[in-house]
Amino acid sequence: MQKYETVIGLEVHVEMATESKIFCSCSAKFGGEQNEHVCPACCGMPGMLPVTNRHAIELAVKAGFMLNCKINQYTTFDKKSYYYPDLPCAYQITQINHPICTNGLVSLKTSQGPRDIRIKQIHMEEDAGKLVHSGNSSFVDFNRTSVPLIEIVTQPDFRSAEEVVTYLNKLKSMFRSGGISECEEGAMRCDVNISVRPVGSTEFGVRTEIKNMASFEAIERAIKYESQRHMDALEYEIEELVQETRRFDDVSGKTFAMRNKETEADYRYFPDANLMPIIIDDAWLEEIKANKPVAVDEKAEQYREYGISEKEIDMLISNH
Ligand code: ADP
Ligand code: MG
Ligand code: ZN
Repeated sequence: MQKYETVIGLEVHVEMATESKIFCSCSAKFGGEQNEHVCPACCGMPGMLPVTNRHAIELAVKAGFMLNCKINQYTTFDKKSYYYPDLPCAYQITQINHPICTNGLVSLKTSQGPRDIRIKQIHMEEDAGKLVHSGNSSFVDFNRTSVPLIEIVTQPDFRSAEEVVTYLNKLKSMFRSGGISECEEGAMRCDVNISVRPVGSTEFGVRTEIKNMASFEAIERAIKYESQRHMDALEYEIEELVQETRRFDDVSGKTFAMRNKETEADYRYFPDANLMPIIIDDAWLEEIKANKPVAVDEKAEQYREYGISEKEIDMLISNH
């Protein structure tokens, strides 16, 4: 009989497949020469103003429909302030006060039976640039700066690594078939929040967050390692668990502390006065809904009606 239960919540960042960036007309295509896809706006030059990409909004809404979310027809952007050389404005444009989608639900089929994962919210934000290190110097490439992302935040509803990987595969196949994202390696990145509690307890334990994981295989290993570390800490009192951000080291298979978790106040969030609120009127919403692809669950249902076996349905859907 298992003594402890693992509790996991995910924040998944997905780069969306738009032609241009989210607040300027630079190409959002992957690759290119360093700093080829840049302009004064995405490089944060003073006086440049952002303009929201309509297609990015549409894809975020489409993702919301696919995850059974409430679509918020009034949505706004906020500035999240922090200083890092890959962030030319020293703030990231994101959504905290009025995210575009809230309260969704994703149903999973696992070896333990069906599981429902609640989606807390989907918000839009811009990606940061990339630092390139060479010898004693570091360089910055702004090609990815301002590429549109959606961040999908779940409630702490996962209870195992298997459930997490099933969920990630489902998101990937939904987003591919819906044209939200090709979800190539690196285009889907995940922060994994983990805590552990005695079986039967209704309170959550102290949580740690493993940042920025791209490979599903590494995510699975990281969850197993980290939940065992929590269990050992509780069982043997060999270390005190603190709420913190950690990174997973692929070689040793262990997680290491990076920093204490920031609180919201550290980021000085405030509404971005350069961007008008987005109002998604009923007509626009209907138009997006009409272009929505058949959801994976509905597709599976159709295949069942044709008498296709569950195993073949899984193959058809994941190869889509
Ligand atoms: P923050 O404001 O610190 O980002 P949130 O409440 O938005 O915190 O949660 C971030 C993620 O952490 C969510 O995916 C949520 O499900 C997960 N989470 C919150 N509490 C716990 C916990 N005790 N154990 C595991 N995951 C948790
Ligand atoms: Mg968070
Ligand atoms: Zn630009």
